[in-house]
Amino acid sequence: MDLTYSPEDQAFRAEVRDWLEEHLTGEFADLRGLGGSGREDEAYAERLGWNRHLAAHGWSCVGWPTEHGGRGLSLWQQVIFHEEYARSGAPTRVNHLGEELLGPTLIAFGTPEQQERFLPRIVAVEELWCQGYSEPGAGSDLANVQTKARLDGEEWVVDGQKVWTSNAHEADWCFVVARTEPGSERHRGLSFLLVRIDQDGVDVRPIEQLTGGSEFNEVFFSGARTSADLVVGEPGDGWKVAMGLLGFERGVSTLGQQVGFARELDGVVAMARENGSFDDPVIRDRLAQAKVELEVMRVNALRGLSVAVAGEGSSSGGGAASIGKLVWASWHRQLGELAMAVAGPDGLTVEPPYALDPWQRLFLFSRADTIYGGSDEIQRNILAERVLGLPKEPRG
Ligand SMILES: Cc1cc2nc3c(=O)[nH]c(=O)nc-3n(C[C@H](O)[C@H](O)[C@H](O)COP(=O)(O)OP(=O)(O)OC[C@H]3O[C@@H](n4cnc5c(N)ncnc54)[C@H](O)[C@@H]3O)c2cc1C
Repeated sequence: MDLTYSPEDQAFRAEVRDWLEEHLTGEFADLRGLGGSGREDEAYAERLGWNRHLAAHGWSCVGWPTEHGGRGLSLWQQVIFHEEYARSGAPTRVNHLGEELLGPTLIAFGTPEQQERFLPRIVAVEELWCQGYSEPGAGSDLANVQTKARLDGEEWVVDGQKVWTSNAHEADWCFVVARTEPGSERHRGLSFLLVRIDQDGVDVRPIEQLTGGSEFNEVFFSGARTSADLVVGEPGDGWKVAMGLLGFERGVSTLGQQVGFARELDGVVAMARENGSFDDPVIRDRLAQAKVELEVMRVNALRGLSVAVAGEGSSSGGGAASIGKLVWASWHRQLGELAMAVAGPDGLTVEPPYALDPWQRLFLFSRADTIYGGSDEIQRNILAERVLGLPKEPRG
């Protein structure tokens, strides 16, 4: 595996770095580092403005083909963009679900009319999306979706409840997995619908989280309506589309995510040096271990990508996506625990009424890392059954 970057890629890295340095100034200067894990509510309007500024300069949907409004970057250049973005400390973008999940899904499965209607607004960050998959009885077991939709003339009518819907309170649209064939079971008879949030039949109720924020919501649909042609893929064949979308999760942004992790770890090391806990050999050992594990994750991600670039498989193939998720989620959760060990008694106190510092938020929010995007247990099941070929677990 050759991990040296070509002169073109190095020039591209310099271009991204220079652009970010030049533009993370003025009104955007104070946004550095905002909006990270468990801090999605931080400076939301300002981060939306920054996201639109990126878009106006062609730094939105950088991996999409140019005919769909993207920048058409190669896989390595996308990695470089995400690494430099994280390295610069630029704030977390608000358009993740549209840019990384729905957009690629519409490019793969959508009609030309759907692509024309929605993709330009995702690129320009004019319309924000949320993901309506999970329900009270359908999380890991997504095929148990009970939300229903029926055709009424030229419209779908949607009834049911979604839960844990990240950013629904800020989103304009929701992609909803709903049962459209009465009496159907499991993954048959589901459809993938695009539903506007701002309408009478949709009620978004924020859920207050441990971190004090409300990053996710319950979403109730009671007679919500959407046009008959806003079904992606064939009606009744939504499972294929829903699973296709999950295949776009993570991918090339993994290496950028790891640069973000490295910045967090540096922050924990700085706190340890400052408050004296760095003198504790057990703390030093844990910090070193975290550093080593992060480096192993990086090399593993590079290996997966170089296989993909060489055309010998996909970066998420062969279980790489499940292994990657398992490893980073546990690593990040342990970083939260380490941050609290380093903070010592200060980690236990908050300013009234409930003003958590970034390390306390990291500690609390990273509990969710091993749950969303497929829990640890589900990743292990995938690896056992689909990669190692072990017998399937009994299902009721
Ligand atoms: C921060 C956060 C953001 C989220 N954002 C969204 C979003 O935007 N849109 C959305 O649709 N969903 C979202 N989710 C929901 C997320 O996808 C689900 O929480 C996840 O799929 C787990 O489902 P569940 O919570 O219903 O738990 P359950 O599926 O009920 O699982 C409970 C426990 O049982 C274990 N378990 C379940 N089945 C098995 C099995 N077969 N074998 C072994 N163990 C098993 C699980 O691992 C878990 O530990 C979000 C969740 C979080 C935490």
